[in-house]
Amino acid sequence: MNAQKQRIFERIDQNAPEIISRSRRLFDTPELGYREFETGKVIKSCLMAWGLPFETLSYTGYAVTLGSGSPCVAVVADIDALPRKGGEGRIHSCGHSLQTSAALALIEAMKEEPLNGTLKVIFTPAEEMIDFAYRQSLIDKGLVRYPSGKQDMIAAGVFDGVDCVLSCHASGEPDCRFDVNSTLTGFVIFKAEYRGRSAHAGAAPFEGKNALHAAALAQTALAFLKDRFNPKDGVNLQPVLSEAAGTVNIVPDRAVIETYVRARNQQALFAAADLVEKCLKKCGEALDIDTEVSRRPGFLPLNQSQEINAMVKQNMLLLCHEEEIAEGLLSGASGDVGDLGTLLPTVQFGFTGVTGRFHGDDFAVCDEENACLCPPKILAGTVLDLLAHPVSGQEGFEQRKGQYLKNWLGQK
Ligand SMILES: [Zn+2]
Ligand SMILES: [Zn+2]
Repeated sequence: MNAQKQRIFERIDQNAPEIISRSRRLFDTPELGYREFETGKVIKSCLMAWGLPFETLSYTGYAVTLGSGSPCVAVVADIDALPRKGGEGRIHSCGHSLQTSAALALIEAMKEEPLNGTLKVIFTPAEEMIDFAYRQSLIDKGLVRYPSGKQDMIAAGVFDGVDCVLSCHASGEPDCRFDVNSTLTGFVIFKAEYRGRSAHAGAAPFEGKNALHAAALAQTALAFLKDRFNPKDGVNLQPVLSEAAGTVNIVPDRAVIETYVRARNQQALFAAADLVEKCLKKCGEALDIDTEVSRRPGFLPLNQSQEINAMVKQNMLLLCHEEEIAEGLLSGASGDVGDLGTLLPTVQFGFTGVTGRFHGDDFAVCDEENACLCPPKILAGTVLDLLAHPVSGQEGFEQRKGQYLKNWLGQK
């Protein structure tokens, strides 16, 4: 290990009690996306105490820049949480508080280090795709442009001039300490609204048009469609009948199906989404029911940079044995870091040390050394390697970004 890495790792160990207590405090401050105001206070109080200027971005996000000049490595950290399923309140059941904690520990350990370039640490809000009505209200007020924090930051130009992106995420994988080069699926969001005509279900059903029949036909068609997908592409859809108006003696005049379509690569994702869109539309039309299908972008599948993952793995090996690193896990989860991966060389590695179900009410941190102290070390080590041996995606970035904004996010 080189002397600078050694020094940074030792500093993180010296700061351990403070890092762990701050991480607990962040875990106990769960807030939904674009509502991370208390979390923001924790972030800002650290940055102010360390005398570091910062920018406020995308309503509740922040960025700190250390060093200067080229190359520029970005570390992104999610800050948002989820609702509890059983009862009121919120919980950090995706472990994003650990990312926030890691990013703060990284800044604290590197703030006085001489750097051969720029380290930009970005706290990204609203990663979980939930709470749409609230996010739409922010968009309507012009406070953000897009429902996800990273999408909003890409559009705002936060990643212009960045060479590559590092991120980490809690992992529930048993029998390992870290994972590298795992998949993240992408998804497209569908909502199909079927509008029929109500009528007396006993006396004159022939005067009505049953919207529920169209929804049932579409559900059947979607189930048949699953034969068309190659298992290697990881295509997944779980349609739900989210609204079905009607009383038992009235022909239902309204039904709504909602589904995500997920896949591990863009080609499979868009091909599957086209088939799903066709089924949702044609089944309504087949029964002469007014049909409106909306299709919105979720996140893109993550295409990990193999070059950077090799560096990440070398830094993990400073902390653990080879057999404690899982490689190439197939995950059905998604993240807006996938969008960044289509624009710049990007990685997301995983760290264990959590227990319970992801997005479940029993999620908790159980190994604070692995979950709080190791991620900032791996990030710091990889940042130093990337400053010494840059991996840059700046060439063609403007063009890719233009296409991304237009074709994926539908920017006019
Ligand atoms: Zn999540
Ligand atoms: Zn997450």
